[in-house]
Amino acid sequence: MRKVLIATKLNTVAAEILKKNEYAVTQDSETDLGTLAKDHPDAFALIVRSEKVTADIIDLMPNLKVIVRAGAGFNTIDIKHARRQGIDVMNTPGANANAVAEEVVALILASFRHLVAGDNTTRDGLWEKKKFMGRELTGKTVGILGLGNIGQLLVKRLTGFDCRILGYDPVISPSKAEDLGVELCSLEKVFEMSDIVSLHIPESKETRGLINEKLLGLMRPGSMVVNCARAGIINEDDLRKVKAEKKLIFCNDVYPEDKAGPKSITDIADLMVPHIGANTEEANLNAATRAAEQIIAYVERGVMSCVVNRAVPDGLDEDHQLLAFYLAKVARSYLGTDSHPDRIETSLYGGLSDYANWLAAPIVLGISSDFDPVFDFQDASEYLREKGITFTNRPVDDSKGYGKSMTIDLFEGSGNTLTKASVRGTVTEGNPMVSRIDGFDKLYFDPSGHSVMVVYKDCPGVLAKITSVVARYGININDIRCPRDLKGEDSIAILKVNRSVSTEIIDEIKAESGAKKAVYFNIE
Ligand code: NAD
Repeated sequence: MRKVLIATKLNTVAAEILKKNEYAVTQDSETDLGTLAKDHPDAFALIVRSEKVTADIIDLMPNLKVIVRAGAGFNTIDIKHARRQGIDVMNTPGANANAVAEEVVALILASFRHLVAGDNTTRDGLWEKKKFMGRELTGKTVGILGLGNIGQLLVKRLTGFDCRILGYDPVISPSKAEDLGVELCSLEKVFEMSDIVSLHIPESKETRGLINEKLLGLMRPGSMVVNCARAGIINEDDLRKVKAEKKLIFCNDVYPEDKAGPKSITDIADLMVPHIGANTEEANLNAATRAAEQIIAYVERGVMSCVVNRAVPDGLDEDHQLLAFYLAKVARSYLGTDSHPDRIETSLYGGLSDYANWLAAPIVLGISSDFDPVFDFQDASEYLREKGITFTNRPVDDSKGYGKSMTIDLFEGSGNTLTKASVRGTVTEGNPMVSRIDGFDKLYFDPSGHSVMVVYKDCPGVLAKITSVVARYGININDIRCPRDLKGEDSIAILKVNRSVSTEIIDEIKAESGAKKAVYFNIE
């Protein structure tokens, strides 16, 4: 009999399902994980919630084959060490999404109707009816940042309140957003036009501190920010400053650390609760059921769809995964970071076609800031399906002798509104190189680091105008490529520079050189 160790306070339905399917189960939420691991070296599967699963703990269970995180985030598990030990790590994505979506509605209503203060004062014998003039959620404009599992469910829950929903998510397709009834707009517009902005994006190096003074400053006086995502997304000092100026309302569920003690946001939070977004009986039941069923499907049918640290097959090296990531990132920057690609097409040469599914993960990582490096083993196809983005790997003729190389095309829209970015590249002496962007061939530049790309009508003097703007700001140019396109009409200038280039400088380059397109990107 295979042994499953449930080392957390999880609904007992998981143990029941597993036992019914002839697994030996030990469930213990009182003993610490280190002791449990020592006492159960024969465990085949481990189920946890937010318990820390370190390399040391993993090493105490030499028979372990799978760890299941009953929940979405898995940053508490050393997934890389697990991989090295041949252990698959799974999560149960979406199992608690409804709980969080409902929490957001609860926080908005409780805040609008002063429920907490109303209860406290009435209980104390006061009658402060006049003080508690409320507001209604019905008909309000709600901006949702991140239209994943939680964001999408929140849209559904809000439809009953006749809300106008604005959304910002870098990868959702316009047609999927339309089906949901969401008006996609820029990050700035979401903040500018919403009565309530609710955050549902992951914390990553790209989203840390994203909600800053500039965005918050666009909000209307008296509007509301709800954070049930992660604390690090908001720049707390900026919120403090703008809240004082604009009398914003702030409802919060999340903290830098989940523990008792004073909280730094106490002075700015109008309503704060102890990270209870996913804390419902139903979410616990869902996650428990999913955890047990996923273990059974994994053992009996080899179902690995929720494995988050999947191994890469022999034959696909790291350089070509990196190349796929770089090309997708360049294509996304070239198409425009405000664009919403709804179609990805690849041509993979030199036998790389066999690894199209595995390469989908770094490609998604390249087009979506959501795919933090920790996600790069995740099955990307399910993710793309949810976003309404199609992924096609075109058949190629390997007899053409293109070597190991690839083309990644991103499309947005169709017919007259179709926009496309096509980027081709290869690995040269161990370095991923971009060889072509749309009609600009023989580029051969290293896409890593800071780059500025400018497309302009080919005529004398334009390149000098571009470089003089860059020089004006003390930015050093390390390398330049500037070929003409195949028709000889336009040129592209690719400047590799020594530091970041602001949107204002890019706008200046565009204005002074009369460029058709100018973009900046940084690939670390
Ligand atoms: P998800 O992965 O299904 O969706 C996240 C969405 O954010 C994706 O659609 C992605 O494209 C989008 N995104 C990524 N970066 C973005 C950016 N810079 N701007 C706009 N959109 C961006 O995740 P989910 O299950 O919906 O959860 C969202 C977050 O909520 C999680 O990352 C987690 O941090 C948090 N969460 C909190 C609780 C809680 O108890 N309060 C519970 C579960 C999840």
